[in-house]
Amino acid sequence: MTSELVLIKEDGTRIDGRRPDEMRPAHMEAGVLENAEGSAFVQMGKTKIYAAIFGPREAHPRHLAQPHRAIIQCRYHMASFSVTERKSPGMTRREHELSKVIKEALESVVFLEEYPRSVIDVFVEVIQADAGTRTAGLTAASLALADAGIPMADLCAGVAVGKVAGTLVLDLSEDEDKHCEADLPVAMAPSLNSIVLLQLNGRLTKDELKAGLQLAKKGTDLLYDLQKKALQKRFASYGEVPE
Ligand code: UDP
Repeated sequence: MTSELVLIKEDGTRIDGRRPDEMRPAHMEAGVLENAEGSAFVQMGKTKIYAAIFGPREAHPRHLAQPHRAIIQCRYHMASFSVTERKSPGMTRREHELSKVIKEALESVVFLEEYPRSVIDVFVEVIQADAGTRTAGLTAASLALADAGIPMADLCAGVAVGKVAGTLVLDLSEDEDKHCEADLPVAMAPSLNSIVLLQLNGRLTKDELKAGLQLAKKGTDLLYDLQKKALQKRFASYGEVPE
C-alpha cells in the first residue's frame, strides 16, 4: 500500500507544521572565517551556507580585466555531504547556473566602478542543503560583501516561494521543493525595492505570481532585518551601523 504525502494538512498547515506564510527559523552571522576578507554564515531551517569574499584585487588573467569596473567571479558549490544522496565533488551544470545567477544579482548592487581592472571573488559553499540554497547563498554572499567593506547600493536577501498542493507557501523545504507544482526563487534589494533574482520552475497564473512576489517580499524584509542585525553585531565595536 502506498501512502500519499500530505503537504498541506486539513488545518492549512504544512508538512513541518508551518503556516503557508511562515519562514523557517533563520540565523545569520557576519565575519565568521579568519582567512577571508569578508564572510558570513546563513542558516534557514536545515539549510546551512558559508560565503567568503576575496579581493578586490588585480584581475588575472589580464584579459578578464575591465578598464572601468571590477568583475565579480562567483562559485556556488555544494559539499558532497550536504545532501542525502552523495553529490559528486566537482562543479555540476546546476552549480554553474547558480554561480551565474548569484553573480548577476550581486553585480546589480555592488559599486563595481569603484574598482577598475579588479576582481572580487565570491565563494558560496553549501554545507547542508534542504532547499532554498541559491537564495540563502545570495543572502550570505551579500552579507559577506558588506562584511568585507565593499560599497553596495543595498544588500540582497532571497527566499523561495512555491505552490504546494494548490497553496502558495513561503520558504520551501526540500520535501516541498520536490513535490511542488511551482518553485519561485526571488531575491530583492530591499531598500531599493527592486528584484535582483527571479526564476520560475513550473507554472503560476498571473495572480499567483503577484501573490507569490508579495509573499517573497514579506520573507526578504525579515531576512534583511537579520542581515542588518548581523552587521550591527559584527561592527558594534566600530560604532553605529545605520538602521
Ligand atoms: N538537491 C540535492 N542534490 C542535488 C541538488 C539539489 O539533494 O544535487 C536538493 C537540495 O536540498 C536543494 C534542493 O534539492 O536545496 C533544491 O534544489 P534546487 O535546484 O531547486 O535549488 P535550491 O532550492 O537549493 O536553490
